[in-house]
Amino acid sequence: MHVAILGCGQLARMMALAGIPMGMSFSFLSENNEDTAPVTGLGNIIAVEDYSTADALFKAAGEPDVVTVEREQCSLEPLTKLAEHCSVHPNPTAIYHCQNRRREKQLLIDCEVSHTPFVSVGAAEDLQTAVTELGFPMVLKHTEQGYDGKAQWRLYNDEDVKKFIKNAHFEPQSDGAVPYVAEPFMKFDREVSFIAARARNGEVRFYPATENVHDNGILLHSVSPAPNLSQALTELGQSSIQRILEKLDYVGVLAMECFVTKDELWVNELAPRVHNSGHWTMHCGVASQFQNHMRAIAGWPLGATQLKGAAGMLNLLGVELNQMSQLKDNAALDWYNKSVRPGRKLGHLVITDDTSEAVQARVLSLKDQVYDT
Ligand code: AMP
Repeated sequence: MHVAILGCGQLARMMALAGIPMGMSFSFLSENNEDTAPVTGLGNIIAVEDYSTADALFKAAGEPDVVTVEREQCSLEPLTKLAEHCSVHPNPTAIYHCQNRRREKQLLIDCEVSHTPFVSVGAAEDLQTAVTELGFPMVLKHTEQGYDGKAQWRLYNDEDVKKFIKNAHFEPQSDGAVPYVAEPFMKFDREVSFIAARARNGEVRFYPATENVHDNGILLHSVSPAPNLSQALTELGQSSIQRILEKLDYVGVLAMECFVTKDELWVNELAPRVHNSGHWTMHCGVASQFQNHMRAIAGWPLGATQLKGAAGMLNLLGVELNQMSQLKDNAALDWYNKSVRPGRKLGHLVITDDTSEAVQARVLSLKDQVYDT
């Protein structure tokens, strides 16, 4: 089974590291001179821009049985070209819906999934509608740019609106989509994510819900199962993600990030791929999200997702590898082989324990050790 992955970052690396023990081989498709260090040594790396025809791209990618992606912000063209020769999972239409925030909101509406309220912003006048409908503070998000909290602006008053309009670019995005969506600043109690895998035969398996803490829009740490998440909200999250998977005829792992306020769940964002909030699945006796993604796209049966006990993850952001020798906890380390830059995701630590509370306490203690706070 030969798999080609579009993207050469840490998610591609961890997918390959999960697939290799199952006998899979890999090649990687890079775009726009991206950093390929995380996948170096794991298979051939080719630049998609170098191949203009579907035939040439398929051959250069090593004639894969299946193609997958590590990110939704990618060009769909190579995927649709490769789909002439082999399976592409998730399918390019699913990625298309998730690579634009406005289209993603429409998908949530069509699937009757509760989501953060929004106003589409395609012109300066729309901002006035947003102010009237949503009030301050408000979050403006570019529909196609940015991840990890980038290309987002918080607006607190009319002065901020004026400043935003001055710098805004109101050109329509792909397929005429609006360039921005406005959302109210959600006063959530916490953030949780749901990760599910859907096999080619339609079987869906859910990992336990995960509670996530972000710092400046970037995930810092996670714990799963999310402590004290009610059965009702758990079932709501699972049925919501299942409807999305089925609507898209999706194969592979999908992540759904949500805000929780009291008894309500508001979907913030979908990720049509393996997700940072599922990295804890790597070291706790379940089939990891990476393994299940590979099994699903290969057409194989899914592995177990039911966690015994609890697990947690701490992201290593801009941290030197040699710091790890100082840690006073036997956390499992995954390092991405990237050069160190402030704030960059360079690796993560995973710990397991009997309960979510015990995991959470250890994650916080690790955070203090790693970030010296
Ligand atoms: P996103 O890129 O949409 O996943 O946003 C990154 C993070 O910013 C989220 O995980 C939240 O912590 C925060 N955030 C995004 N949208 C909102 C919102 N409407 N209200 C409050 N916080 C938000």
